[in-house]
Amino acid sequence: MADMMDKIVSLCKRRGFIFQGSDIYGGLANTWDYGPYGVELKNNVKRAWWKTNVYERDDMLGMDAAILMNPKVWEASGHVKNFFDLKRDCKSCKKRFKDADLKDKSKCPECRGELTESRPFNLMFETHQGAVIDEANLIYLRPETAQGMFVNFLNILDSRHPKLPFGLAQVGKAFRNEITPGNLTFRTREFEQMEIEYFVRPENADKKLQEWIELHFNWYSDLGIKRENLRKRAHGPDELAHYAKACTDIEYNFPFGWSELEGIANRTDFDLKQHSQYSGKDLRFFDDVKKEKILPYIIEPSGGVDRTVLAFLTDAYSEEKVKDDLRVVLKLHKDLAPVKVAVLPLLKNRPEIVEMARAISKDLKKHTVAVYDDTAAIGKLYRRQDEVGTPFCVTVDVQSLQDRQVTVRDRDSMQQERISVDSLKEYLLQKLAG
Ligand code: ATP
Repeated sequence: MADMMDKIVSLCKRRGFIFQGSDIYGGLANTWDYGPYGVELKNNVKRAWWKTNVYERDDMLGMDAAILMNPKVWEASGHVKNFFDLKRDCKSCKKRFKDADLKDKSKCPECRGELTESRPFNLMFETHQGAVIDEANLIYLRPETAQGMFVNFLNILDSRHPKLPFGLAQVGKAFRNEITPGNLTFRTREFEQMEIEYFVRPENADKKLQEWIELHFNWYSDLGIKRENLRKRAHGPDELAHYAKACTDIEYNFPFGWSELEGIANRTDFDLKQHSQYSGKDLRFFDDVKKEKILPYIIEPSGGVDRTVLAFLTDAYSEEKVKDDLRVVLKLHKDLAPVKVAVLPLLKNRPEIVEMARAISKDLKKHTVAVYDDTAAIGKLYRRQDEVGTPFCVTVDVQSLQDRQVTVRDRDSMQQERISVDSLKEYLLQKLAG
């Protein structure tokens, strides 16, 4: 199965999904850059998430808060005090290890040197705001997007007057100085989160927690992840974060084992209580049905964009034997596929064919993500599109010049159909919408 990870990494680089960050300088450890297809896939994942969680509901509002926040936020949230890993340093090779990962807590697992006592290391990245570098202007890069939503709770109430239950959704970067990053984009120090803070009356929290777990579990499978590769795992009491009363992870069966894609937690009224206390503002919600002021509980589905992209890539990857050839195909859901249609001339030395193919592609581009490609022979062009998951290829040939019909090839079945150029757009858009 580790072999599978190598195949994904190789495909990502070969086809332009994901590159090593700062590549020409030898990279910067565990940073990754999304290339032309990667950015499309990632944007499609975020768009699909936003559609399900914001546009298709009446009780959700979107937000986009700043990464840099008043440092008091992180005192109130408990991150300054509690967001750390216990680590030990090797006195010989100077490497640092997470205490929890060490079997033998006295010897370095790499050079067998002596290890220090364990010490807490905060996972938040620190920086300084303004020209002077001192304690007074120390700020953090946010380790989660959630706090941006909590500190805007009053602004949302005052500007939009929502009724309980309602939620806020946000997609954005978060930073954690992880000691053991790895597995491509699975665990990095800079990553993107897709988070929801859903505010409910405390007595409804358990029920709403279950609803969000179901909804999000189905979201992954509706977008093509095989159900047998997904599971829910409830946290034991010793695993819960300092703010959570209950939490269930949605896990994916990655080539390196079952691992968390998303955590869905009941954060209780912890955050609003803390921010009320630290800011001195009354963050209670006035329930005008029950005529009382309450601090709502918060249900938080918190997923990672990069991990989700990696899961979609891995799950879609397949190899098929076609005659004597190995066909690599990314069977991505059509909503996620970076390119929806590729228009390919069968013969590029026939100007009329090229012209017709270009005209078709130009027209399709107004309605969907279409590309034109004539840089190789047709077999190679098909293979290229299969590898990046393009659902449809349209081929223009000599016959097309006479009968104004083109061949449409389906990525998964490889079935080919002759379609009239005049109805091509409707035909494809219908297939892509269905
Ligand atoms: P893990 O135990 O895997 O480090 P976590 O439980 O600390 O994750 P949360 O704090 O629940 O993660 O963050 C919510 C989501 O953000 C995770 O489910 C994951 O998808 C994503 N995420 C968290 N840390 C990272 C990271 N270092 N790299 C990539 N994604 C991350």
